[in-house]
Amino acid sequence: MSVSQNNGERLSREQAVELLDRHGISPTEQRIEIASLLFARHQHLSAEQILAQLSRQASRVSKATVYNTLKLFAETGLVREVIIEPTKRFYDSNLNPHHHLFFTDSGRLEDVPPAQVDIAGLPTLASGVEVVGVDVVIRVATRKPS
Ligand SMILES: [Zn+2]
Repeated sequence: MSVSQNNGERLSREQAVELLDRHGISPTEQRIEIASLLFARHQHLSAEQILAQLSRQASRVSKATVYNTLKLFAETGLVREVIIEPTKRFYDSNLNPHHHLFFTDSGRLEDVPPAQVDIAGLPTLASGVEVVGVDVVIRVATRKPS
């Protein structure tokens, strides 16, 4: 199933259940609701944005449930958690390896294909330690007139 080709506002209920199943997550109503919203397309949403979208749709999912569900999704690898600051984290439905561009003015996060970032070197690692991932966040701001 390709989530990027889904043009609808939401993933179908069946697709959401299948996605949860594949990650060993038991499909409760709230989890289905959150998954179908998040995986409708490749996007980065904060818990607050998900909560706001759910409440616009008159959903009865509580704030605590949204936070707990997103934590579970991140732990099981269903969603990628992108931490910009300890209090600013996004849930990324694009699981393909990629980096990010963070617009500090607007708070927007954009994907950067891995081929566009060249990492020239990494620190020497202690023996028994290996690199499992490199996540680059490039922070940009509107240039101030000089
Ligand atoms: Zn991303």
